[in-house]
Amino acid sequence: MIDNFIDFINEIVRPTGASLVVLSHAGDEGLARGRLREQTIILNIVFLNIIRNSFSCLKFAFRQSSWIGEFSMKVVMIGAGYVGLTTGTCFASLGCDVCCVDLNAERIRDLTRGEVPIFEPGLSDLIAQTRAAGRLRFSSDLGAEVASADFVFIAVGTPSRPDGDIDLSFVEAAARDIGQGIADNAIVVVKSTVVAGTARAVGDILKKHGGGRSTRVASNPEFLREGSAISDFMRADRIVVGADEPGTAAAMRELYRPLIERGVPFISTTTTDAELIKYAANAFLALKIGFINDVANICENTGGDVAAVARGIGTDRRIGENFLQPGPGFGGSCFPKDTRAFAATGRRFRSPQPLIERLITANEERKAMLSDRILTAISGNEAARVAVLGVAFKARTDDVRESAALTVIEALMRAGVEVSGHDPKARPQAETILGPGMIWHDDPYSAARGADAVAIMTEWDEYRELDLKRLSALMAGRHLFDFRNILDAESATRHGLFYHSLGRPLAVPSNSRQRTKVAGASPSWADVAASPL
Ligand code: NAD
Repeated sequence: MIDNFIDFINEIVRPTGASLVVLSHAGDEGLARGRLREQTIILNIVFLNIIRNSFSCLKFAFRQSSWIGEFSMKVVMIGAGYVGLTTGTCFASLGCDVCCVDLNAERIRDLTRGEVPIFEPGLSDLIAQTRAAGRLRFSSDLGAEVASADFVFIAVGTPSRPDGDIDLSFVEAAARDIGQGIADNAIVVVKSTVVAGTARAVGDILKKHGGGRSTRVASNPEFLREGSAISDFMRADRIVVGADEPGTAAAMRELYRPLIERGVPFISTTTTDAELIKYAANAFLALKIGFINDVANICENTGGDVAAVARGIGTDRRIGENFLQPGPGFGGSCFPKDTRAFAATGRRFRSPQPLIERLITANEERKAMLSDRILTAISGNEAARVAVLGVAFKARTDDVRESAALTVIEALMRAGVEVSGHDPKARPQAETILGPGMIWHDDPYSAARGADAVAIMTEWDEYRELDLKRLSALMAGRHLFDFRNILDAESATRHGLFYHSLGRPLAVPSNSRQRTKVAGASPSWADVAASPL
């Protein structure tokens, strides 16, 4: 009987994150009558405490239950950028009542008019659906929204500072604004990528500005990738939630229940661990990219093929196949910033991260090295012209933050090269950074017309399908740089092009008089530049 009762209690309290394991020993066989009474009293006390501490969790559970009504937790998302807009929309599609708030009034005006300011596959449709269902709104009025929120997410930017650490001023400002109007017992969730200790600091700010209201803080780092953000949210590898007391973790678990029921693992940690998990994950992935780029360099000089090496090592499950494609150096809004922040945190806490420090430098050197390769190939040509295909830091996004393409284009321009370019999505963003010096075209062939060299910087599908015969006929020179290894060497050389890819030997057109100096090794860049073609 007591066993059943304890099981029953355990079932009820499990979602709160509490454990009755210790108490369940009360159900051991041979339990004396007196002990039974004592244990029952303890159980009652513990149970009452759990109910008190996790009141909001139970409230959410009731709200969610089908016989009471529809799942209607109110989520306010502060920051309607890539992360805030995507996760806010996804929560709305799971049934939450969501309001995305942003300081940028123009962004809110566009969103309210139905214009989505970023390109993310599937996002516009999902926004339209969830708005039509009345579950997603946009606003600039934070105060009005947070007062009735169950969860207030902070998804604002955390840009790099010159010393590599991150600028937390947007997070702190958001916390101050929230503190003034938030409801008692609501949960503030730090979604932005932040250094260890930030969630606790946010808690202090809330206390200071909250007029004594009890506000709980969770850390819930985001792992979505631009370009596949919606499926990354809906089918996440895991949800990481850091909370420093069990009621908060339980309420977060309830918020994510629709995903957990689909099998997404929920990892509950302290806030500091959650913050460190995000940085350690990105640092590790960036290391994999840096490593395969170094392997690509060795392959080029030994006559190896990086694709074969990557396949050979990636099939080892301890290593894994992902993030083993060489490229022009990682960019985007996360890896460069997060590796710098991880290294800076290491310095600040006297636990240096030499691997990451070296990786950061190597990544920047790589971007510079690739522009040198192009310049070497076209050297001697005073009115050289290079067509750059792709400026987004990767395909399926319009994000150009820290894109290797920008570094390469700027280096070419500094060297006096005329640069023409194309990108199917990211041109407006790149135009504001690069200014009028770059000549933009609406398709890759127009960009390549008259170019001495073409450089593919982003792995857009339309570049994979380039008609190399047409491209070659339009170009003035013969050099095709494929910094994403998406084209076929044989096809490029058949159409008279020198095909420069990463981690593979230079492929020389069959009619070229170019010969390698060392058997099995690629010709040097200077050799290629001196080629009569
Ligand atoms: P973003 O720059 O695209 O968007 C941030 C938005 O926050 C902007 O629209 C800005 O106007 C708004 N904002 C700033 N302060 C505000 C305030 N006080 N009140 C209301 N709005 C405010 O940034 P993002 O790419 O969405 O990144 C947000 C955070 O998520 C960063 O910490 C980033 O490192 C992290 N992250 C980003 C990605 C990604 O792929 N972009 C992935 C995982 C984590």
